[in-house]
Amino acid sequence: MAAASLSADRTIPLNSRLVDSHGRVIHDLRVSITDRCNYKCVYCRTGEFGAQYPELAIDEYLRLIEIFVSLGITKVRLTGGEPLLRHGLVDLVRSLAGLRTLDGQPLDLALTTNGHLLDSLAAPLKAAGLNRVTVSMDAVDPQTFERITRVENSFQTVLGGIRAARAAGLTPLKVNCVLLRGFNDDQIQAFAHFAREEDVVVRFIEFMPLEEGRLWSPDIVVPLTEIVDRVNAFAALRHVLPLVELAPRDPSETARRYTFQDGAGEIGIIAPVSQAFCGACSRVRLTSDGKIRTCLFSQVEHDLYGRMRAGAGLQELRDYIVRTVQGKEARHHIGEPGFLKPSRSMVHIGG
Ligand code: SAM
Repeated sequence: MAAASLSADRTIPLNSRLVDSHGRVIHDLRVSITDRCNYKCVYCRTGEFGAQYPELAIDEYLRLIEIFVSLGITKVRLTGGEPLLRHGLVDLVRSLAGLRTLDGQPLDLALTTNGHLLDSLAAPLKAAGLNRVTVSMDAVDPQTFERITRVENSFQTVLGGIRAARAAGLTPLKVNCVLLRGFNDDQIQAFAHFAREEDVVVRFIEFMPLEEGRLWSPDIVVPLTEIVDRVNAFAALRHVLPLVELAPRDPSETARRYTFQDGAGEIGIIAPVSQAFCGACSRVRLTSDGKIRTCLFSQVEHDLYGRMRAGAGLQELRDYIVRTVQGKEARHHIGEPGFLKPSRSMVHIGG
């Protein structure tokens, strides 16, 4: 494969940044480094562990990410599938930590994981330069969690991973919970307690139509307003009312953030269905097989890796990324007549 060299001639000015045709600056890159996963969460998978798409070599992800960084990306989140399954992950993080943004700053380096292998990997990842992790955990009741993940003893294992991540300093530590009515919405109040006890930021996420099967319906989504009401009911019981909304830290922040009256514990709510935030989206995705996706719900993918493998030089690849990002969709159309699910489900895109 012909590797693009960052020392090659560039036609795109060195200080150019990715901006789409709707005026949104794109500075956040999510990279899936495998679409394999060791969990089979019932709302995500049909029951198979296996990959559907090829993986690139670790140094190929690095080369592609380097090109994005040369176009103004400042935040990189590694994801999957389950990124902790990839050999070479720690080396990739170490190399990414050595990159600098256009302003000469280190990247904001984060990772999303199910936490199953985090107990042993948290400290090496931190030492390699990872800043933060987000752990997905959809129940705090061990039996409910095992039923969702379809893996034995998953709750204790992930809890161990969360504690190891906090001990390693991968903070602020976020725990993401996708809520589905009738599956795990009985966990909302226990999660509010968990946020305070474990000193983590618990973020509830509305379920999106991105599953492998056909589970999604508007009724299964637990909307933001209902989540707030139910956390408030918990807060009332504990006499830590009212839930206080926190100011956004940056305009592209996806979560609405809340704390309790006594300031202990933080709850975030990510509401892509009931209160879409597409207008402030700053993200672009690279799949495990090197395709650019400009939206979770894109109907088309853009084969960046294919071009690189065919020998495209740096200039051509930069041009391709710039043009692709310009065509980013204005918004998603969840719940509208004629809505089409994307060809890949969440686990194969990289959440
Ligand atoms: N394996 C890693 C993990 O568990 O975090 C990374 C990949 S996983 C696909 C990323 C996140 O997407 C998880 O928090 C998962 O719960 C979430 N997710 C999966 N399907 C979803 C859906 N249909 N709607 C909303 N979030 C979803």
